[in-house]
Amino acid sequence: MKYVIVLGDGMADRPIESLGGKTPIEVAETPTLDEIAPKSELGLLHTIPEGMKPGSDTANLSVLGYDPKKYYTGRSPLEALSIGVPMKDTDVALRCNIVTLTEDETLGFEDQTILDHSSGEISTEDCAVLLKAVKEVLEDATFQFYVGTSYRHCLIWDKGSVVDLAAPHDHLGSKIGEFLPKDEVLREMMRKSYEILKDHPMNLERKKKGLNPANCCWFWGAGTKPTLSSFEEKTGKKGVMISAVDLLKGIAIGSSMKVEIVEGANGGLDTNYEGKADAALKALLDDGYDFAYIHVEAPDEMGHQGSIEKKIKAIHYLDTRVIARVKAGLEKAGVDYRMAVLPDHPTPIEIRTHSSEPVPYLIYDSTKEESHSYHYSEREAALTGIDLSAGPMLIERLLGEENQCL
Ligand SMILES: [Zn+2]
Repeated sequence: MKYVIVLGDGMADRPIESLGGKTPIEVAETPTLDEIAPKSELGLLHTIPEGMKPGSDTANLSVLGYDPKKYYTGRSPLEALSIGVPMKDTDVALRCNIVTLTEDETLGFEDQTILDHSSGEISTEDCAVLLKAVKEVLEDATFQFYVGTSYRHCLIWDKGSVVDLAAPHDHLGSKIGEFLPKDEVLREMMRKSYEILKDHPMNLERKKKGLNPANCCWFWGAGTKPTLSSFEEKTGKKGVMISAVDLLKGIAIGSSMKVEIVEGANGGLDTNYEGKADAALKALLDDGYDFAYIHVEAPDEMGHQGSIEKKIKAIHYLDTRVIARVKAGLEKAGVDYRMAVLPDHPTPIEIRTHSSEPVPYLIYDSTKEESHSYHYSEREAALTGIDLSAGPMLIERLLGEENQCL
């Protein structure tokens, strides 16, 4: 038996008036889901434990069978793993965004305003140059910087503390004073980074071109090294992760799963859907893996953008270019398989951010001849009466009777 999870990040939604009270999943053309849903188990899954934030971090851990209450130590440490940072048990990892603050010379640092948490989605190459200038002044035995992707980088704090820090994207347009770290060392490092970066030649160049200057480091998301158990030891299955997102790669590295890099996979609507499906098929059919986790970021991203049309398109592509291709490939090879399809959390168009409602899941088993009359959707999943109260129950059900050890 082979096992697959196809995860459409954020694809669940709420009824939308302009869609006649339907959700993007209900409206999207999904011939493969329409075919397999009647033969599948359909229900609701609570991926976000009570009191935790609905993030892709907590939710995907949960879907992979790791209770976030026990295993979640912050987002930044998972990203640190994905960019190859060697974390010690006593280290604290912090996300270091390179952000854009105002440069009003009549005001002090604390009275500047945060304009952009991503410095106009600055490139990794440009950010590496800026970070080098910061490192020359601020790096020492206690603090080490690591280059990540685009505006997202990492600061490792030796024997640091998990301090409470504000996320920059939550305070756009605000004066920064009250959102700066209470910890004086971190606060002073942010102030110094602004001094170093605001007159850096690259930023003078960016301003000339009308781009947002990348003029300050912003630390947030502190956490200690994650101690996930090995997925294989836990389940007896060899697993592969297929995702374009650092966070998911970090979860895979933390749980000793293989990370498959797919060319052209980018987390956007124009990602390489077929490449992801083919990577899963190769891992399962040629390379001896038992389980593939195919993560597609596009529906979430379109939800954040508030584009109904593109979100519907992302779900359509997930169906016709990933699910259909994996199904056809496994059937052609003549292997028995179980496939789960679900989001990690809803990203409702209405609020353009994540929410905590339970998500609709489907588990299809190629060896079973069930016959129901339902479709895959939020509404119909709620009507089946199957309501799994914790995220890790999904993988228990997917891996089935053969495995009860989770
Ligand atoms: Zn997500």
